[in-house]
Amino acid sequence: MHNEETYDAAIIGGGLGGLTLAIKLAQKGKKVILLEKETYPFHKVCGEYISLESWQFIESCGIPLTSLNLPLITQLKISAPNGYTLKQSLDLGGFGIARFTLDQLLFEEAVKVGVKALQNTKVKHVTFNGNQFEINSDKGNFKSHYAFGAYGKKSNLDLQLNRKFTQEIKQGKQNYIGVKYHINIDFPDNYIALHNFKDGYCGISKIDQNNYCLCYLTTQENLSKHGNQIKAMEEAVLFKNPHLKQIFSTASMRFQKPLVISQIRFEPKPLIEQHIIMLGDAAGLIAPLCGNGMSMAMRAADIISKLFPDNAADENSRHQFETLYRQAWNKNFATRLLVGRIFQKLFGSTQITWLIIAMLKPFPWLLRKIISLTHGKRF
Ligand SMILES: Cc1cc2nc3c(=O)[nH]c(=O)nc-3n(C[C@H](O)[C@H](O)[C@H](O)COP(=O)(O)OP(=O)(O)OC[C@H]3O[C@@H](n4cnc5c(N)ncnc54)[C@H](O)[C@@H]3O)c2cc1C
Repeated sequence: MHNEETYDAAIIGGGLGGLTLAIKLAQKGKKVILLEKETYPFHKVCGEYISLESWQFIESCGIPLTSLNLPLITQLKISAPNGYTLKQSLDLGGFGIARFTLDQLLFEEAVKVGVKALQNTKVKHVTFNGNQFEINSDKGNFKSHYAFGAYGKKSNLDLQLNRKFTQEIKQGKQNYIGVKYHINIDFPDNYIALHNFKDGYCGISKIDQNNYCLCYLTTQENLSKHGNQIKAMEEAVLFKNPHLKQIFSTASMRFQKPLVISQIRFEPKPLIEQHIIMLGDAAGLIAPLCGNGMSMAMRAADIISKLFPDNAADENSRHQFETLYRQAWNKNFATRLLVGRIFQKLFGSTQITWLIIAMLKPFPWLLRKIISLTHGKRF
C-alpha cells in the first residue's frame, strides 16, 4: 500500500520518547505519523521509577498525573551483595507507574491530538532520498520530511542501518539481560531499593494499582552459567543478598513468568544516522542503576519539539536542526551517560560494590552529588 500524503515527521517506535515527541509535535500543528510494532497496552522490562524532573512535561502532554494518585518516592536504600546497607533521602525523587499504564495513556492522548498512530506496525526499512524519507512498514509505505528513531535499545533497524555497534554485538562483547516482575509485597511506598548481587543489581519500588515493580539487570554470562534458567540463577546468585532472598520469598508474583529481554548494551551510539534523528535508548542507553532513562527519552523529545523547523518541507533547515539537536543532546546527556557507564562497570564486582557503598555511607553529600550527575533539572 502506498500513501501519497507526506508527513512532517515519522516517528519509529512508540515508547516514552516516541509518544511524547508525537504529542508535542502534533500540539504544534505538525502532521505526524507514529509506528509501533506492539499493540497497546503492553508490558516492558523497565524499573518503572520515573524521576520527578519529567512530571510537568508528562502533564503538559495531556496526562493528568496528579489525579492518578501515584506513589511518590523520596528515599533510596542501596545494599551490597552481602546485605550491607546504606539509606539516603533523594533530593528530587521520583514516582512509580507501570509502563503498561503510562504508554497506553500517552498513546490515547496521541490519537486525541491528531497523530496518525499505528500499532502492530513494524518498520522494516527507512530510506532518505535526498529530501524526504520513505518508511517501509508492514502496514505499507509512508513519506515524511523528517524521521525519528525512537525504537529503543535494540531493533531490526539498527542492523538495517548498519549502525557501528551492531558489529560489536555480533562479536559477543558484554551483553546484559533485564528481568521484570510485578509483585505484591509489604514494602514502604516511598522507597526505592537497589540491591546488588554478583554481576548485577535489582530495583524495587511501588507503582500504580498497588503493585511493586521488581526489575533486575545482570549479564548474559551469569544466566548461561545457570543453564539459562532464571529461577536457578536467582536462587544461586541473587539470594546471596539477604534482602533479595527475603523479597523473593515473601512476594506474591503478579506475572506467571517474568518478562525478560537480552542483548542490552551501554556503549555510545551515533546520534544521527542517514539523517534519521535518534532519541531515547536508540541514541544511547544509560545504566538503569542511574534510574533515569525514561526522563532522558522524554527530555530529548522536548528538545526536538522545540527545535523542529517551522516549515518541515524547507530542505534548508535540515542542517541547522541537526546541528542544534546534536549540541543540545551533548549538553544534556553526554556527562550522564558517561557517569552511568562508569558505575555500570564498577557495580559488577561483589567486593568493589561493597567498598563503594561502605565509602559513601559516611558522605551522604557525595552520593547526592553522584545522583545529581545522572539527573537533570525539572523540565
Ligand atoms: C532493566 C532495566 C531497568 C530500567 N529501569 C528504569 C527505571 O526505573 N527508570 C528509568 O527512567 N529508566 C529505566 N530504564 C530505562 C528505560 O526503560 C528506557 O531508557 C526507556 O524506556 C527509553 O524509552 P524509549 O522511548 O527510548 O524506548 P522504549 O520505551 O524501549 O520504546 C521503544 C519502542 O519502539 C518499538 N520498536 C522497536 N523497533 C521497532 C520497529 N522496527 N518498528 C516499530 N516499532 C519498533 C518497541 O516496541 C518499543 O515500544 C531501565 C532499563 C532497563 C533495561
